[in-house]
Amino acid sequence: MLYNNISNDMAVCANCFQSIEENSSNCPACGTNVIFDGENKSVIDRIEPNCLIHRYEGSDLLEPAFLIKEARANCKVATRLKEYPKPITVPKSKVYKFDDKILGSVKALRNERTATMYRYDQLIGKHFEKLQPFNNDN
Ligand SMILES: [Zn+2]
Repeated sequence: MLYNNISNDMAVCANCFQSIEENSSNCPACGTNVIFDGENKSVIDRIEPNCLIHRYEGSDLLEPAFLIKEARANCKVATRLKEYPKPITVPKSKVYKFDDKILGSVKALRNERTATMYRYDQLIGKHFEKLQPFNNDN
């Protein structure tokens, strides 16, 4: 059986989100018939984001995630395949509707900022290299 995911060597059941072994014919957790491809595909082998999360206070990292379970105050979400069986908990107020445009813009700006900060560090470093040692004899 072939997985058509490159980054992650696993698949999860689309019904119960538990891990599926490569050669299983049924999900060990819920018994769903395992179909790896085609119209009746019953596994998830790549992250299928349906929300955005902001989980680090003070950070502006926005992450695509898949909402597994919604409770009163918190949500269980997965940001990668291996988190489907073991989702992370995020306060409901930090879970947003998926928006590709906003996600893309925030990502691009974060990258731009990182590149700019790197450039400034280099420029400042060049000035530091020019500093002369202090000499009392002058
Ligand atoms: Zn299952």
